[in-house]
Parts: sequence; structure tokens; C-alpha cells
Amino acid sequence: MRVIESATMQNVEGRSALIVGTGLAGSLLAVFLARAGWTVRLVERRHDPREKRFAEGRSINLAISARGIKALQRAGLEDRVMKDALRMYCRMIHPVQGASHAHPYSNDPTRGINSVSRSALNLALLDAAASEARVSLLFARRCTHVDSVKGTATFVDEASGNAETFSADLIVGADGAYSAVRDALLKSGRVDFSQTFLTHGYKELVIPPVTSGKYAPHALEPDALHIWPRGASMMIALPNPDGSFTCTLFWPWEDAANTPSFATVRSAADARAVFERDYQDALPLMPTLAEDFERNAAGSMVTVRCSPWTANGRVTLIGDAAHAVVPFYGQGANASFEDCEALTDALAAHANIADALRAYELARKANSNAIADMALANFVEMRDHSAKASFRRKKAYGRFLSRIFGRYLEPEYDLVSFSTVPYTEAQSRGKRTSTFMFASIVLPIMLAGAGLFFYVEREYGKDTATDLALKVLVLVFGIGSIVDVARRISTASARP
Ligand SMILES: Cc1cc2nc3c(=O)[nH]c(=O)nc-3n(C[C@H](O)[C@H](O)[C@H](O)COP(=O)(O)OP(=O)(O)OC[C@H]3O[C@@H](n4cnc5c(N)ncnc54)[C@H](O)[C@@H]3O)c2cc1C
Repeated sequence: MRVIESATMQNVEGRSALIVGTGLAGSLLAVFLARAGWTVRLVERRHDPREKRFAEGRSINLAISARGIKALQRAGLEDRVMKDALRMYCRMIHPVQGASHAHPYSNDPTRGINSVSRSALNLALLDAAASEARVSLLFARRCTHVDSVKGTATFVDEASGNAETFSADLIVGADGAYSAVRDALLKSGRVDFSQTFLTHGYKELVIPPVTSGKYAPHALEPDALHIWPRGASMMIALPNPDGSFTCTLFWPWEDAANTPSFATVRSAADARAVFERDYQDALPLMPTLAEDFERNAAGSMVTVRCSPWTANGRVTLIGDAAHAVVPFYGQGANASFEDCEALTDALAAHANIADALRAYELARKANSNAIADMALANFVEMRDHSAKASFRRKKAYGRFLSRIFGRYLEPEYDLVSFSTVPYTEAQSRGKRTSTFMFASIVLPIMLAGAGLFFYVEREYGKDTATDLALKVLVLVFGIGSIVDVARRISTASARP
């Protein structure tokens, strides 16, 4: 086994980093560290995507919002990535029957999330990393072992089967949700870890471009994220610049009541039957449904939590390796980009790498927990609540309040997607907004009730007023309890 010493990688600043994984986070971090004077070795399991096409089947576009754009700006890549982005200003809800309707994402009509090609984004980041003189790239090497005490990582050459060990001052696991670097940390010490799979899987389908129609080459409005909410399941579609849409079907893995699942719907014919019933308006737009459904494997979605993210002051994790989240807030990549900025800043602020890693983890851990929780909650909102008129009224009321109270009552979605305040702050301010909305409805009702009580007391005496108040309270609590039980039953049957 060949060991390549860090001394061979050091530059004048004398610091070397080994990054495992050239995905979105690893490539961006390489750019930032190289520009900060580090010598960076970037090692990837797959072949060089600049020579071979990316494997199909994974979500081919993703939504990039304020956090991701800020990091791309810092890397000087905003123009390259955003020139082909399609901005989605609203959710377009497709009910089972009837016309689709749009829900704006924000009061500010210029605010939207951006559909970008995953492979183009990764290529832009990889090109930027490769163009840095201090970055060297190695492909088709799978990380199999990390020694956090020695600061070494071992890779197996996928072609020859030979193992190589590299050492560096800092080793970063940017190797995704099923990280080998994280596995090594788990084996080496006291590391808390949980991975929770969603009961639902996802499968990609396609709406191809069209030659005629109101939105040609797109078959549907290209400036919206399309959602077919179906209670316990849903389909979404994001536009691509070539006129196509990437659709993602989110169905339960196992047989489930009142909803199709990947266990029960296996053949293209079964899928077509479901689409004829549940996705009627989409079906005519999906001529390749049968092939796509049979060819594309369903993928799983996982929430990963792990603590600590660092070991022996030499090894750390970023992106999905540290905190994979389910994709329903469109924030996994955005959060990973924030990690890259936070780690770079911490390394610049602390002379000692161990101190920098602690500061980085402190800055990011609570935020990654917050976005993990918000992403899970958003699944229920997208697939179930977004179909309901009460949801539309609630959103409209929220936007109305935020128009009046401005920054004080900004909705959670705006804070997560259109600002770069920490996720924990977005979560707590979002809760404050919801509490205020609730109070703004309940308090006037209570005040009116009190006013009525005093009026009846003055006009008809205390006994009549008390009697009336008790009857009203019994009625309100009775109706409230019935509504609450109904809500709990429907939430339980629709839980992710
Ligand atoms: C269906 C779906 C939709 C999504 N939509 C969005 C969205 O709209 N917006 C958003 O912000 N996020 C979205 N995400 C999340 C986003 O894809 C991830 O958060 C993001 O890719 C994480 O980047 P990463 O670099 O940490 O990991 P990855 O992109 O997974 O990259 C990890 C890299 O490490 C390599 N690797 C793995 N193991 C090894 C090994 N042993 N040795 C060497 N290399 C290795 C892999 O080959 C890969 O290149 C979505 C995810 C899914 C599943």
C-alpha cells in the first residue's frame, strides 16, 4: 500500500486538505480552500463526469435559492449557473379534478426558487475546482478507510483494485448521505448517529417538450413548481430549459390505505391506471410514462443526524455526509453550500484546525437539525395541506399579515428560501408568525365574547350571563374536540 505524505502536498501556507467526494459540497469547498491558500486533493468514487455522462435516474434538476446563490456568488459562479436557471415564482396546484391554481411563494413578486440542472451545477463547480492551481483531482477511487488519529484516508482504485493511502492536515468527508468517512468516524469513537428513512420513496418521470401550446416548448407554466397533492402521496414537476419537466413521484414504499404505493403498483400498466385516476391532467403530457416508470428505479430518502461531526481535530463532515435531509424544502444542496462557507470561514478565523472544526460544527449543527425538521414538516404540507382551501386561506392571511407587519412577521418559507438568516432563526420566527396568526384570530373572538358577557350581565343579570357563557363554552369545546379528533385521525393517516 502506497502512503503519500502530506509534505508532498503542502504549499507556502503549509496546509493540505483531502476532500472525499466531488459532489456539490466537495467541489465547492475545494474552490474555497484553494483560494484561501490550501493545497487540496479531491478524490471521487465515480468516473470523471467531464468525460462520461452523469448516471441518469437521480433527480436531474434541483431548486437553488438564496443560500445557494450566495455561495455561488462567493465562488464567482453565479452568472454561469443562473444563466440557464428557470425561476419558479409559485406553487401550481393540480387537483384531482378541476383547474390548477397558483400560490405565490412570497408577497414580493420577484422572489422565486430556481430550477437548475444538477449535472450542469456539478460540472460548473468541478470546472472551477479543476481550474485552481492548488487543486488536484482523482477519480474512480473509493474511500474505504479513514484514520482520524494519523490523518490518513485509504482509497481503492476501482479499475485496478489497488489501495492507496493519502495523508493531509485536514480530511473532509463530502461523500454524501451514505458517507464512508462518517462510517469510519462511527467505528473510531463515541459518535451519536441516526438515520431515519422516509416511509416514501421517489421515482423520476418526464414531461417532454412540446412544439405548440401556450407555454411551448413547455407543456405547462414554466415559471412554477407544479404539485399534484394526493393526501398521502404526491407528484411534483420542475421545469428544464429544454422545455421538459422532471417529475418526481413520491409514493409510500409499502402497501398503504387510500394511496398507490411502490409495493402495489409495479408494472407500467398499473402505473397508467393510477395516472388515469389520480393524475388525469398530467397523463396526456407524459407519452414516455410506461418506459420511465419501468426503467427508473425508486430511490429512498433519509434524514441523517450525527454528532460530533469532527474527530481528533483532523477529520470533519460536510453536506449530506453530516446531515442528509429529505428534499421537500429544496434545501439539501443549499445547506451544503452554507457548510462550505462556514468551514472556510472557521478555518480562516482560527489558527488551530481543531478549534476551527469545533467552531464550524457549532455554527452549523443546530441549523442542520432545524432544516431537517422543517423539511419533514414540509412534506405533509406539500402533499396534503396544499390541496385544501383552508391552506390557501392560511397562506393568503400569512402574506396579508406580513405585508402589514413586514420583517416582524415574515413567513417561515420566505426566511428559509429567500433569506440567509440561520435556519434556527427561520424556524423560530416562523413559529412566532404562526402563533401571531392564531392569536390574531382567537383574541378578537375572546374579546367579543367578553364584551357580550358584560352586555348580557348588565341587561339581564348575572345568572343569565353566566348560563349563556357556560352554554357557549360547552358548544365551543364540544365542536373543538370533534374537529381536533378528526384532524388527528387525518394527520395520523397522512404521516410521512
Ligand atoms: C430527489 C431529490 C431531490 C432533491 N432536490 C433538492 C433541491 O431541490 N434543492 C436542494 O438544495 N437540494 C436537493 N436535494 C438534496 C441534494 O441533492 C443534496 O443535499 C446534495 O447533493 C448534497 O451534496 P453533497 O456534495 O453533500 O453530496 P452528493 O451530491 O451526494 O455528493 C457526494 C459525492 O461523494 C461521492 N462518494 C460517495 N461515496 C464515496 C466514497 N466512498 N469515496 C469517494 N467518493 C464517494 C459520490 O460519488 C458523490 O460524487 C435533493 C435530493 C434528492 C434525493
